[in-house]
Amino acid sequence: MAADPGGSRGAKGAGRPPLPLPAVRRIHSVKAPLILGAGPAGSMAAIHLARAGTAPVLVDRDPRVGDALCGGFLSWRTAERLRAVGLDPVRLGTHTVSELALYGGSRVATAGLPQAGYGVSRRALDGALRDLAVEAGAQLAIERIRAVAPRIVEGENGTWHPEAVFLASGKHDVRGAGRPRVADDPALGLRVRLPPAPALHALLRGRIELHLFRGGYAGIVLQEDGSANVCLAVRKSLLARFGGNPQRLLDSLADEYPPFAERMAHAPPGLPVDTVGAVPYGYIARATTPGVYRLGDQAAVIPSMAGEGMGIAVASGALAARAWLGKQGAPEYQRAFAGQVRRPVRAAQAIWALSETPAGAALMARATRIAPALARGVMALTRL
Ligand SMILES: Cc1cc2nc3c(=O)[nH]c(=O)nc-3n(C[C@H](O)[C@H](O)[C@H](O)COP(=O)(O)OP(=O)(O)OC[C@H]3O[C@@H](n4cnc5c(N)ncnc54)[C@H](O)[C@@H]3O)c2cc1C
Repeated sequence: MAADPGGSRGAKGAGRPPLPLPAVRRIHSVKAPLILGAGPAGSMAAIHLARAGTAPVLVDRDPRVGDALCGGFLSWRTAERLRAVGLDPVRLGTHTVSELALYGGSRVATAGLPQAGYGVSRRALDGALRDLAVEAGAQLAIERIRAVAPRIVEGENGTWHPEAVFLASGKHDVRGAGRPRVADDPALGLRVRLPPAPALHALLRGRIELHLFRGGYAGIVLQEDGSANVCLAVRKSLLARFGGNPQRLLDSLADEYPPFAERMAHAPPGLPVDTVGAVPYGYIARATTPGVYRLGDQAAVIPSMAGEGMGIAVASGALAARAWLGKQGAPEYQRAFAGQVRRPVRAAQAIWALSETPAGAALMARATRIAPALARGVMALTRL
């Protein structure tokens, strides 16, 4: 039987209402890869596979493209990879970023980026990628997947028997293909979106800011609608000190760090704080089951401070597609990709560890001020 006509769509993916659940459990056999997850990694794979003439099925649990918390900064390398499939970030109205501003202790330092980066919401980016995938001929199916095994994918409403599985479920592990448990004190993600304001725009124009503090950092960048994405990665233990209450943590950081307070002063009362659970920084999949290609955060998780997770996502999507089309097995693809990500992930882990201590944060800001070229070198080291 062909892929499910009830649970799939051949039209543009963004902004469509959910389809009704089918009454009976369906069996689908798919003569192409099934891509689990229509985030940047999955959509990129779908674009490449569909343009090569296959008919991949792209499955996501969300009928509408959400505004994911993480990934608001696109590096120049990520932008290159997007342009290679015909998506110029500038067309999304992105905010162009030419400078890094690093706040460590009482110090601030700036360094030019090697090339322009971009601030953009995930809603805009993921929606554009999904649309490109569907335009290229990928079939979008809306279903929550529960379990994965080679050539078998169990969804809420049906069972799929694809030629191969591309696992691109991002932060979410799926039964049968989970990643190992993370460290005792993992990083958590928090996000607030500050509404557009001229004073905020004047502070942040053209920059990506990193505010370093003990146990985490906040990255701040303007997005296409003029709002500012404030995204924090903090140790679980730090949030626990505030009773697990993100707002109390943000208030305390603002009390301690005046430049951070100046930005957070633009937050209206009651602004929601989005959170994401334990992030396995440093994870690299070196092996995989035959037939299961791991992409994006399911292939490697670079500490987010580097701003290269989206780059890894889109690169792995393109490479996995090429591997499958060239009949390279999943284990061989995975080993090769692990070799490529090792250096940037290791470099980003070392920087994240240094930045977490007050002395390390001050040292980073000082070194950036004295030698911006060194900071640019470090930025280049953390690119894929
Ligand atoms: C705090 C933080 C800040 C970050 N900031 C940046 C940044 O500024 N720049 C940057 O480059 N990177 C950043 N990253 C990293 C970046 O967000 C990720 O690397 C990137 O989102 C990975 O893309 P992906 O496609 O693998 O997964 P995701 O973007 O997580 O997409 C996964 C998709 O799979 C779907 N899905 C999941 N489970 C199921 C299921 N069971 N069934 C069906 N569908 C499912 C989801 O709905 C989603 O659409 C940040 C990460 C964190 C934690």
